[in-house]
Parts: sequence; structure tokens; C-alpha cells
Amino acid sequence: PAALVHRDPERTAESLGRDSAAWRATVGAAVRAGFPLVDTLLAPLSPPKAPFSAARFGAPALLPLTWLARSAFRTPEARAVLAGMAAHSMLDLRAPLTSGYGMMLAVLAHQVGWPVARGGSQALADAMVSRLVEHGGEIVTGHTVRSLNELPPARSILLDLTPRQVVAVAGDRLPAAYRRRLTRFRYGPGVFKMDWALSGPVPWRDPSVASAGTVHLGGTMEEIARSEADVARGRHPERPFVLAVQPSVADPSRAPAGAHVLWAYCHVPNGSDVDMSEAIEAQIERFAPGFRDVVLARHAMGPAALERRNPNLVGGDIGGGSAQAGQFVGRPVYRAHPWATPVDGLYICSASTPPGPSVHGMGGLQAARLALRREERAAARV
Ligand SMILES: Cc1cc2nc3c(=O)[nH]c(=O)nc-3n(C[C@H](O)[C@H](O)[C@H](O)COP(=O)(O)OP(=O)(O)OC[C@H]3O[C@@H](n4cnc5c(N)ncnc54)[C@H](O)[C@@H]3O)c2cc1C
Repeated sequence: PAALVHRDPERTAESLGRDSAAWRATVGAAVRAGFPLVDTLLAPLSPPKAPFSAARFGAPALLPLTWLARSAFRTPEARAVLAGMAAHSMLDLRAPLTSGYGMMLAVLAHQVGWPVARGGSQALADAMVSRLVEHGGEIVTGHTVRSLNELPPARSILLDLTPRQVVAVAGDRLPAAYRRRLTRFRYGPGVFKMDWALSGPVPWRDPSVASAGTVHLGGTMEEIARSEADVARGRHPERPFVLAVQPSVADPSRAPAGAHVLWAYCHVPNGSDVDMSEAIEAQIERFAPGFRDVVLARHAMGPAALERRNPNLVGGDIGGGSAQAGQFVGRPVYRAHPWATPVDGLYICSASTPPGPSVHGMGGLQAARLALRREERAAARV
């Protein structure tokens, strides 16, 4: 049987049987702390909007996931749910802070859901482009910037890059000490990603999974933890933890009537060239026997192919750098304002800055605010 996380925390708690009260007391309590808590966690270097809740939830968040899940929950279902969420961090689940990543994703699942964009994720880019164009902005695509010297003069430049490319593009302008610190930045594991066109829905053994947007295929917490520990040690798990998304469940426009699309990835060591297609499909078959019979077409991309499409995915790392505790706020280096480089007007706004990866855009928001503040201050001085 699958454990389901519903938008409603109470419904989720009820479905977790002996762990109902524990879910209410942990994830449920953090959900009740509301958006000020989420805002505080997503802006870790700003004055906290919810200092008391941050202090209450901050301490357990520092714990390794396996430790927190074993002490807070008794059922394999609740433990597996939190482990699956924490595994998005691509860390060994015995590492500090993995509880924080798991709790954060669980809270967001209740507070805002894990949405997919109607029409595909391109719709998000299109919406942002139209907003920028409305404000007189111009966008140039299909051009790889190899040096800052290629860019027109500007008072502020925000680089949506990871440290390795920042050094490649702007290295000659950066002070040697800062450049050295950027080169010490650690990247995380990579991913092996697959996309499928399906003639029908995935034949899940547990039919309730058919309604889920995101599906974690990993069995128990112990199994998920083993898979992530393997990857952290540079090995390829035999039964990888697979993160799958069924966008057509929420957005039927993704596929012709009756048909579906599915995508999934598993974690692999950074830069791996091992084909994980078989292992991923075997893991899906385990929970959905007959899956291969509904596959019309498949497409696979390992770390090298992903990096060719987007050079920010260094070695297939979709997190813009390891999420290890030392790089949570020290992204890309420890500074009061990590979004600013020591070069006037030059900023980094990518997932390699706090609060790290995902499509929340908070690194960009913080970098933009900083650039504007400094611009305004400079203008006031003139
Ligand atoms: C398969 C996959 C699934 C994911 N799933 C999720 C998910 O479900 N939820 C979630 O929150 N996050 C997810 N992520 C992670 C999320 O996409 C990233 O954390 C986020 O996009 C990072 O944003 P960014 O602005 O740092 O960089 P990016 O989004 O990588 O943007 C950087 C851009 O800069 C361009 N670029 C790089 N170098 C140059 C250059 N030299 N010149 C010009 N352009 C350049 C790149 O082509 C790219 O368009 C996923 C990522 C992948 C790959």
C-alpha cells in the first residue's frame, strides 16, 4: 500500500493510523505556523518573520532524517513519506539538516501543494517573459555568454550561474581569494532522467496512487536511505529511489485523450555515465506491474546530456551544488550577502545562493533586492 499526502494535513494525519497524532504534532504544527515560518526558512539570512516558530522547528530540522523519523514515527508509512521528501536534497539521509529538507517539503505539500503548470513548465517561462516585456525588458536566448566582456555596459549584472561558470565568465575580474573560494564549492550527485509517452494511465498496484501528481518509489525509509547512501558514496543503487511525476493527472492537456505522460529521475553519482533506464523502469514495474506495456515511447538523459542542455547542471547536479549543511547558507561562500560578489555591480542569483535549489526563485529575489538597494544608495550619493 502507498502512503498518501493530501493537501489537507488532517486527512493525511488520519490516513497514517498509529502516527496520526505524531503527524499533527510535527508537520501539522509547522503548517499551522503558516507562511511566516516558510518565509523565514526561505530567507535564511534575513531577520526572521516568525522567530519563535523558527526556533521551535529549527532544532529538529538540523537532525538527520533517519533519526527524526525513527523517534517521531512508528509506522513504515509515515517514515517512508518523510524519507522520500528528504531525499529530494540528494543527501545521505543520515546527514544533518536532512530532516529540515523533508519537513519543509511536507509543509509545502500541505500549504500550497506541489503544483504542475497547466500546459507544461514552459508556461511559467512564458508568463515571466511577458511580464518582463511589459516592463520594457528584452530577452536574448540561444547565445552562450563566455565572458562578461560580451555584455553591454550595465550598472548591475546578475549571473544565474553556478560558481564554476561564474569563474569561467567573470574570473579575470574577481579577486584571487574569492575566485579560489568559488573553486572550492562542492557539487552534489547528478540525476538520470526519463520521460515517457503512455497509451494509458500507469497501472499502479495501489490504485490510490493514480491521483497523485508526484510519486516517490522507494519502498521503506530504510530502502530509500540505502539508495541515497549508495549515491553519496559514489555507487549506483540497485533499487534506486525514483521520483516520478504524473503531470497529466492534474493537467489533461499534456496528452491526447485517454493517454498520459510521465517523467521520473533517480540520483546517480556526479558525472555518472551509467544507463539507469532499466533500473528505473524495474522500480516502476515493481509498484505498477505491466507498466512497460503502456509505454509508447521513452526518452532518457544522463548527467552529460542534461549538462549539454543546461550548463548549470554540472555533472547532472540539479541542485546548483551540494545541499550539505555547510553549504546551506554558505552558498556559494560565507558572506553577509552571498548574492553579491566582491566586484561592484556583479551578483549571483542562481540556486547556488541561499536558500538553494528549487523553483521558488528566492535566490533571484534576494539578489535583485540587494542590487536595487545598492543602486538606490549609489544614486542618493550622486
Ligand atoms: C529534471 C529536473 C527536475 C526538477 N524538478 C524540480 C521540481 O519538481 N521542483 C523544483 O522546485 N525544482 C526542480 N528542479 C530543480 C530546479 O529546476 C532548479 O533548482 C532551478 O531551476 C535552479 O534555478 P537557477 O535559476 O539556479 O538555474 P537554471 O534554472 O538552471 O537556469 C540557468 C539558465 O542559464 C542558462 N545558462 C547557463 N550558462 C549560460 C551561459 N554561459 N550563457 C547563457 N546562458 C547560460 C541555462 O541554459 C539556463 O537556462 C528540477 C530540475 C531538473 C533538471
